[in-house]
Amino acid sequence: MQTRFSKQQLANPRIQLADDILRKCVHCGFCTATCPTYVINGDELDSPRGRIYQIKDMFEQGKGASAEITKHLDRCLSCLSCMTTCPSGVHYMHLVDEARAHVQETYKRPFIDRALRFVLAKTLPYPQRFAMSLRAAKIARPFAGIFALLPALKPMATMLKLAPKKLHPASSELSTGRHGVKGEKKGRVSILTGCANAVLEPSINAATLRILNRADIEVVLPPEMGCCGSLEHHLGMEDGALEKVRANVDAWTKEIEGNGLDAIIINASGCGTTVKDYGHMLRHDETYAQKAAKISAITKDITQYLAELDLSYTAPENLRVTYHSACSMQHGQKIKTLPKQLLSQAGFTVSDVPEGHLCCGSAGVYNIMQSEMAETLKQRKLANIKTTNPQVIAAGNIGCITQLADEAGVPVIHTIELLDWAHGGPKPAGL
Ligand code: SF4
Ligand code: SF4
Repeated sequence: MQTRFSKQQLANPRIQLADDILRKCVHCGFCTATCPTYVINGDELDSPRGRIYQIKDMFEQGKGASAEITKHLDRCLSCLSCMTTCPSGVHYMHLVDEARAHVQETYKRPFIDRALRFVLAKTLPYPQRFAMSLRAAKIARPFAGIFALLPALKPMATMLKLAPKKLHPASSELSTGRHGVKGEKKGRVSILTGCANAVLEPSINAATLRILNRADIEVVLPPEMGCCGSLEHHLGMEDGALEKVRANVDAWTKEIEGNGLDAIIINASGCGTTVKDYGHMLRHDETYAQKAAKISAITKDITQYLAELDLSYTAPENLRVTYHSACSMQHGQKIKTLPKQLLSQAGFTVSDVPEGHLCCGSAGVYNIMQSEMAETLKQRKLANIKTTNPQVIAAGNIGCITQLADEAGVPVIHTIELLDWAHGGPKPAGL
């Protein structure tokens, strides 16, 4: 694709990066066929190619974002299915990240939209505030129907609907510090305990810790470690996101320079995609660029790390497991077969979801902000899953688990909980 940026524009690192990415696009449109929003809406402006043109136009004109481009960028799930399909290697993720930051800096959203984004950014990344908001949601749930009647307050109704009915006590979260092993230590890692996992399903972190400790891997959870920053990053709120990124880089670098770290383990693939991108996110920060690149280089999804350990598994029951591959797992991190291989190796009968490349509609806070599209994609995903007649659905991302659980008709369990069970751990509570 030809671009027309001036020398002056190209001096801006954002424009320079966008130019490099845009020039790779050959307009072929292959990406449109696998883009969920294009598949549903059939509108070129809601396709990757259409969005790329709009971003190019916005940056070339050097103007602030319009309401129109903001609408089409907001509808993008950041599922990155387009990146898997693109034959030219267009890095849509970095392009849309820059475009979102530009929207955030230059476009004034309607008040309710701004307020909602502010509340989400100030609540969800902080486990204590998140847990408190879930308790409040429990009380407010009966009013969800009233909120749903007012279009501007629809996201509030969706939030109340999505909030889990059962809340976990704070004591079920993992304690920070060192979780040592009894035998000879074979490795030392940190687990990103995250914000959603810790609050919504603490059993995921517990299973991750158990299986690693059983394999004689010492785990350290630095108290300074927090949210990976992806929520604010996807909302275009770069300052807040980078503050969290730097805090995590500092926390893990201290461990690397202290007793060493072999890997940073991620058990929420949405976070994994972001932490693996820390090196890029901080590339212009002289103090952090090198440290962030190192963090990204040693970050692994839990299934990648387990595959290296080559453990033995025996599933106590031969369940029919349908594996739902989160977009951030298959498109973001390109981890496609490993989780299924491990589940099969463990003794489960594993099936794929037809149309598995299409997003379930979760996508961070997308299911709150764009509830209609999210609901359409969810129902399509559930219908596809149903054709596989599962006894249990496995997924490696809490967002997808929360999105699908209430209407799946069978338990939706994190892959690591099934593997932990097959490795001698307790039966997952959801089964
Ligand atoms: S990230 Fe997903 S929703 Fe966004 S343009 Fe690409 S395929 Fe479409
Ligand atoms: S598939 Fe790649 S090269 Fe083709 S239009 Fe989409 S982004 Fe551009």
